[in-house]
Formats: sequence, C-alpha cells, structure tokens
Amino acid sequence: MKKYIFVVGGVMSGVGKGVAAASMGKILKSKGFSVTAIKIDPYINVDAGTMNPTEHGEVFVTEDGDECDQDVGNYERFLDENIYSDNYMTTGRIYQTVINRERNLEYGGRCVEVVPDIPNEVISRIKKAGKKAKADFVLIEIGGTVGEYQNLLFLEAARMMKLQHPKDVLFVLVSYLPIPHFPGEMKTKPTQYAVRSLNSAGIQPDIILARSMVALDELRKRKIAVNCNVTPGDIISAPDVESIYEIPVNFEQENLGNKILKKFDLHSRKKDLKDWKNFVKIIKNPKKTVKVGIVGKYFETGSFTLMDSYISVIEAIKHAAYSLDAKPEITWLSAEKYEKDAGAVAELKKYDGVIVPGGFGNRGVEGKIKAIKFCREHKIPFLGLCFGLQLSVIEFARNVCGIENANSTELSKDCTPVIDFMQEQKALLAEKNYGGTMRLGAYDCKLKPMTKTFSAYGKPNISERHRHRYEVNNEFREILEKNGLIISGINPQKNLVEIIELPDHPFFIGTQFHPEFKSRPLKPHPLFKEFVRAAIKNQK
Ligand code: GLN
Repeated sequence: MKKYIFVVGGVMSGVGKGVAAASMGKILKSKGFSVTAIKIDPYINVDAGTMNPTEHGEVFVTEDGDECDQDVGNYERFLDENIYSDNYMTTGRIYQTVINRERNLEYGGRCVEVVPDIPNEVISRIKKAGKKAKADFVLIEIGGTVGEYQNLLFLEAARMMKLQHPKDVLFVLVSYLPIPHFPGEMKTKPTQYAVRSLNSAGIQPDIILARSMVALDELRKRKIAVNCNVTPGDIISAPDVESIYEIPVNFEQENLGNKILKKFDLHSRKKDLKDWKNFVKIIKNPKKTVKVGIVGKYFETGSFTLMDSYISVIEAIKHAAYSLDAKPEITWLSAEKYEKDAGAVAELKKYDGVIVPGGFGNRGVEGKIKAIKFCREHKIPFLGLCFGLQLSVIEFARNVCGIENANSTELSKDCTPVIDFMQEQKALLAEKNYGGTMRLGAYDCKLKPMTKTFSAYGKPNISERHRHRYEVNNEFREILEKNGLIISGINPQKNLVEIIELPDHPFFIGTQFHPEFKSRPLKPHPLFKEFVRAAIKNQK
C-alpha cells in the first residue's frame, strides 16, 4: 500500500513548505523508496500560466507541458525525477473537471455537491498520480496556510483520506516561530493556534517542522508538544540556512527520515545521502566567486525585491557554479533603468556574465536590447533564455543586418517581424484563447555540428522545455545567417530556430526553450555550465 504524506503550512506563507516537502522526499528516496510529490494550489486559475510572476512566482513547466507552481521545480530538483501534469492541481482545475463531468451526465442525474464531490475528485487525482509514478511515498503539499478559507476543501480531502486509510496517511505541519525584536524570545503561540485551526478541520499533525531564524531549544519543543498533542521527538527544528540544499542534511540530523518510516512501520532499505552531503560541502566552501547579472523586470513587489519569478534560472546558475567550485554572486539589474539612462548599461562591465531571462510584453524591452548589444560588442559572456533569444535576434537584425525597425509582433504591430507567432497561434489569439495554449513542454532539437552549443551538449539530439507563443521568423533566417548569426539548434518536426550563437565571442548563446527547467543540483545543465565556465574565464 502506498503511503501518503500531507504537508500543510501554519502561521504564514513563504516559509519554505515546498522545499521542506521536497527535502522529506529526498530523504525517503535516499532510504531506498520511490517518491513522488504533488502540489495543490488553491487558486481558481486552472494553471499557473495566467498568474503574474511577481505575485505567484515563476511558472514552472513540466515535460508534458503543464504550467505549474514553482514548487514543482523544487520537487524535480530535490528528487531528481520528472514530475508530470497529474501531480499539479488547482481549485479551478478540480471544479472544471467536476462541472464537465456533470454536464456529460456522468453523475447519473444525482445532485452534485461541494462535499463530497470536490474532495473525492482531489482524492482520485492524488491516487492516480501516485499510481502513475509507481511511488511508495506520495507527498502532497497543500498550498496556503491553515485557517484560511481557500484551502478548506483540500484539507477536507486529506481528512477523508485519513479516514479511508488510517495507517497510510501522515500529516506534517510546517509552522513558523517568530522571534519578535521585543521581547526577543522565540514565540510558540502562533504555532499553537495553527494546530488548533488544523484540529478544527479534523486533522491532527503527526510531525511539526518548526521553521525559525534559529534552532529550537528543548524548552520550546516541550511547550509545543504539550499544547499541540505531539511528542517532543516529533517536533523537528528547521532553522534558516544559507542554502536550501542543506535542508535534507539538517532533517537527517534530527532523524526525520527514520521517524517517518517508524510511523508507517517501515524500515530503511539503504542509506545514500553521500553525494548530496558532498555537494553541500562544496556549496559551503567554494574556491572562487563568479558575478552574474540578470537583466529582467519581474523582481519588484512594492518596496521589496522578490527573486521567486526567476527561481529556476537562479538554481541553474548555482548548480553550474558549484560544479565548477565557484560561488555565484547574482545581481538583479532593472531593464527599465537602461531604457531611461543611456549610459547606465556600461555597468554590465562589472559582471563576469549576463543573462536575459524569459519575459512578456513591452516594459523594459528596449533596455534589455541595449544590454544584449553591450554584451555582444564588449564580449561579455551572455545567455539569452526564450525572450532573451528573441531579443538577441532583434538586436542582431537591427544593429548587424541593418533592419532598423526589426521587432517581434508581440511588441509592435508595425515592424519588420523577425520574431512572429506561428500560424497555428493566429486562431487561438483571435478567439482570446490564451490559457495553456503557448508552445509548451518538451520538444526535440537537432544541433549543428562544430558549434559551441554542440560541444556543450556533446551529442547531436536533445530535448528541452518550452513556454512561448512567438518564434524566429524563418523568412529572415537567410539574412541573419549571411551576417554571421549561427543557428546551432533547430526543431526538426516544425523547422523552428531553437538555439543561436555568435562566433568570435567568448560565449553568446540564446535558446528559444528554457534550459533552466532541466538543471538538477548534481547534474548541472550543459549550457549553464559552459556559460559559467566562460564567465569565470572572463575574470582574467
Ligand atoms: N513573450 C515571448 C513569447 O511568448 C517569450 C516568452 C518567454 O520568454 N517565456 O514568445
């Protein structure tokens, strides 16, 4: 029988529930079990593709083209497994299925009700995903915080599953213990309220992961234990760490893996966290530093900076840098600043390498194009991701091929469209059919021999994940190539430009896909690795 572990959050959001769930999965996997993870997003949106990245964070794309919450990326990175669309659900997706089924008379004419029909759909999806992944353990992260209205029906599904399979379901609460400036002591009360709230949904946590700035002391563990009906041994201290990759190691120090197994009456089948522990050692003592600038726009929320919009890019840089024994120093550079102040772009000289990541719409575009031009002309290692490739082609068309009003039809109606939407997108756009209709998920790509790209991958055929509507316009391929642009990867089925590079430059590569989605801690992505290698070389 499969084991199901529900992970819920208490006190506040953003304390690392996804990473905690992924870390638990990593530990169970290292003990010889197969593990998969599911993310439940309480939003009405059917997928994350229509949510603003500064509000909801990065849209992570799976192999089968689902636009998911960024936590799915954490699961893939920690578990080193592909996660598929069955493992992601939103309130919108659940209701859409139930309503469609009702319209098709699949409920046989009976009344369809919020309870139990909605939780039943949730349960059936959880079971289906676990079965498909052939997992011994299914981790299910319920988004949001206990006590809020939005995730109640998912908690109800979890409660019902426990009733159906009392020996196979476990609840983990990820809570937060604040240390207010005054009185300067760690407070357990918010966690006590969170547990009460969970209790009122009919759920008793089995384990509490206590997130805080520092480790929990015994006194606090006992206090939480007595008030929350959990033994002190099942309260796991989860202090802030410098790198999220330390978390599985820290959990293991608290013996979390064996505690979980014991609750299910299971025993460890092997012990294998060695590679991961070595990786963490490297993270802590890198010999070099490498400075990477990211020119983007999705990082301002009010007066705060949020890096969540580009999380897979950041992690991919880290994986590549650590594999070269370097610590990455990442700086956020506002594309809009380069638009307003013509000289500002010269600051890019300070960076060993520059990335222009994915993006949509006009804001900041001309600033990004200026940054690309500067990197091309000053031989600064450059990696353009998706929109980054499209803008590199526009820059090259304008400034090297002399096509002055070269642009993308996404950005200007009245331009020479070197970037244009595919014919099949036309009807979708006319019908305003925007949700889940971009070119999404894994596509094949054939590489051109004797290119930097080919030598990075070391093989002729690859597959990478996409999320975009627009493409390089094939009508301009000839003029671009004549002027020196190398098309180093194409999609053979649709004959589309997937990768470009420049000769006579230490590293200038743009990809129509998002290589960052396939980077894993112990398997850095080859293009990120070669980009970082070139950036380190650029220091001399
Ligand atoms: N806006 C561009 C497109 O839709 C690029 C998207 C992206 O960078 N993911 O084609």
